[in-house]
Amino acid sequence: MKYVDEYRDGKTARHIAAKIRAEVEPDRSYAFMEFCGGHTHAIFRYGIPDLLPDNVRMIHGPGCPVCVLPVPRIDAAIELAVDHDVILCSYGDMMRVPGSNRRSLLKAKADGADIRMVYSCADALAIARDNPQRQVVFFAIGFETTTPPTALVIQQAKKLGIANFSVFCNHVLTPSAISTILESPEVRDMGVVPLNGFIGPAHVSTVIGSQPYEYFAEEYQKPVVIAGFEPLDVLQAILMLIRQVNEGRAEVENEFVRAVTEHGNMKAKALVAEIFEMRPEFEWRGLGLVPYSGLRIKAPYAEFDAEKRFALAPSLGRDHKACECPAILRGVKTPKDCKLFGKGCTPENPVGSCMVSSEGACAAYYSYGRHQ
Ligand code: SF4
Repeated sequence: MKYVDEYRDGKTARHIAAKIRAEVEPDRSYAFMEFCGGHTHAIFRYGIPDLLPDNVRMIHGPGCPVCVLPVPRIDAAIELAVDHDVILCSYGDMMRVPGSNRRSLLKAKADGADIRMVYSCADALAIARDNPQRQVVFFAIGFETTTPPTALVIQQAKKLGIANFSVFCNHVLTPSAISTILESPEVRDMGVVPLNGFIGPAHVSTVIGSQPYEYFAEEYQKPVVIAGFEPLDVLQAILMLIRQVNEGRAEVENEFVRAVTEHGNMKAKALVAEIFEMRPEFEWRGLGLVPYSGLRIKAPYAEFDAEKRFALAPSLGRDHKACECPAILRGVKTPKDCKLFGKGCTPENPVGSCMVSSEGACAAYYSYGRHQ
């Protein structure tokens, strides 16, 4: 398959790995964060750590949309479905993430709530049109990649005058999260997380472009290489980062030129800007309250905002006390540091969000045998 098979070629992978081994400086340590869960998945699926020298380490970032949504937002979705008697439409992975007391949307559905798994927000709008007597809420999550489709359905709902449809908006923004990581004491003081650079997200960057990362390269002197999700993309990005570190450069480079441009998708960005605005702050699992890191629906579209339509009770729910997801999402710990990993917590019976989605670090470690 074009653009897939050619980026999975084993011979080329071994060739890039040999270059990496030849170019790393033996007295130097290299630690790079792959921000995006799609990269975490690719790194473990294709055994990339086994191809890297011992002094090159990958740190897993918070770029898994299912993982970063905190317990209170999951509790709010459960409340919508149970107490407000709506048809709640959710992506499949989100249904398995435990909220307070390990209750999930899937458990609420088993108890009788009308919760439906959808593959897109357009499916949720279709359910609203088919059920005019019921309130239908789309549980919107995700980074800049999934925000434009949500904006489009809100715009369509307004044009079509669909009064029984609304969106519980949990869309978040990548650059704010990267800033928070770089400003965290664990990274800033080069102590706990000695971060030398980032692999920039693939799909997110097709929307926002490479330009927003310039700030991190200039202000924090951290190299960024935007990469696709195939194994050769990731290996090539690691090689490009090593070269930047060796040469003392901190620049934004784009390995994913087949899909990412400097300014991204202008049409998608304009659509998002019409429907959404930044929240002053938004809570992330692991990162806490992050300024200007989440989106809410603008006033002209307020009738489609589920948070305004239904008065949701604030939840004080917190993560299971033994779950290390918050530290894993900050890059401070790995799944192997969690005593529940592979014992009390498995993909079939997840205790924390990082074990649910295939983009979560715990699920990736578990699925690809990093639990021994
Ligand atoms: Fe949380 Fe489970 Fe991962 Fe432990 S293994 S950090 S409990 S998701």
